[in-house]
Amino acid sequence: MSTAAKQTRTNRTITVDFRDDATYAQMLGDGKAFVEFVCAFLLALGFQLAHKVTCRGGGCLTRHSHYVRLRLGGLTIWRIQCTTCRAVFTVLPHFVLRYRQMRPEVARDALLATHGGLSLELCAVIGHISPMALYRLICALGQQSLVGVLTRCGLPLPVYFLADEKHSHCLTDKVYLPTIVTSRVLWHLGYTTEASAAAFAQSYGEFQRAAVQQEPSYRVKGVLTDGFDSTTKSLRTLFPGIRVGICLRHALIKLPKKLVAIASPVRKALRTQFHTLWYRARQRKGLRVFALGQRLRHFVDDVTSTAGAANGERIRRWFQDKKAGWYAVLADPQMPATSTLLDQAHNAIDRKLFMMKGFHHLGGSQGAFLTGLAHLYNLIPYQRRALNAGKCGVEVEGGRVPTADWMLNLQILTSGGFRPAGMGATT
Ligand SMILES: [Zn+2]
Repeated sequence: MSTAAKQTRTNRTITVDFRDDATYAQMLGDGKAFVEFVCAFLLALGFQLAHKVTCRGGGCLTRHSHYVRLRLGGLTIWRIQCTTCRAVFTVLPHFVLRYRQMRPEVARDALLATHGGLSLELCAVIGHISPMALYRLICALGQQSLVGVLTRCGLPLPVYFLADEKHSHCLTDKVYLPTIVTSRVLWHLGYTTEASAAAFAQSYGEFQRAAVQQEPSYRVKGVLTDGFDSTTKSLRTLFPGIRVGICLRHALIKLPKKLVAIASPVRKALRTQFHTLWYRARQRKGLRVFALGQRLRHFVDDVTSTAGAANGERIRRWFQDKKAGWYAVLADPQMPATSTLLDQAHNAIDRKLFMMKGFHHLGGSQGAFLTGLAHLYNLIPYQRRALNAGKCGVEVEGGRVPTADWMLNLQILTSGGFRPAGMGATT
């Protein structure tokens, strides 16, 4: 079963916004004007074409570029070839989806409904398409990596991030979705059938390889987890020297369960005290780690005196187990402290995941499907409040999207033939 988005041959399709069908039809008769329009579009986006590694063609096309017209399902499409490296770029107008009969307007409604949590079957009813056609469309979008699309939007690779695995089901099998999040953006949404460190390292390794390919000097400084052993091990293997923190909010949630056989008011009082402890520890500017160690010891003493020796000992062992992860959070002011945003991303993805059950089959494209869903999560506007109204996650994080239309952005950004200006050529 495939866990990674496969790419068998280099896809150099580019989607170009011709604004309306008539402009495109007009351009078809004039090769020179057509190439000039494509170049101006690239320049406006700040993109270059993904030529071959050896090419010194300058990332765009020249008026000497060869072009041919071909008919594709009743539509005339242009192919442009770089005269230097002979890379061939297929230019798709905005009103056509790659390899698909589906109109973008139909795809737009179906994808939006999918993203909103409606089953693939019902989304297909809305657009009068087959559920499998919609599944394949999402998989096709998922052929482009999240790292590739996000860096095209100008987002810097994350130096600190949140990582955790979503537990899910495929038919009756337990599966895990290793996830990397910064704020409102998903950088990785993988798929494994095991919860071992090796399986997670394989999945998080896909993110690492994509990131290093974009930026060979890429280094991660810190990651926040929920403290699961396989997660920590896999990340330490992939990113030697990384600071691994444990979510502070989880510490607060877990505390009451660690206090056994005591009256409710005592438990409540200790929880409040624990909350204050964290608040004070995070308020401090310097020596935060030293102060936390002291406060945790005092707290164990208080538990012992109010809730008994057994509870005190349980809390002490729990602190012993987790404190390195908590120290890691407090030792670096740039470390994220809670994994709330990752939980939000998982909740959003969860609404769609039950749809996978019906489409699960050996040799299926779980990896590509999940990556496709993650693109929707990153690029569909979600903000309703005034400050960021109408913005998608990428924009909220300071990234640039090519146009004001999310569907067109999705088409353009998941085209294989683009790369951000100033970056090395791809193979
Ligand atoms: Zn070239």
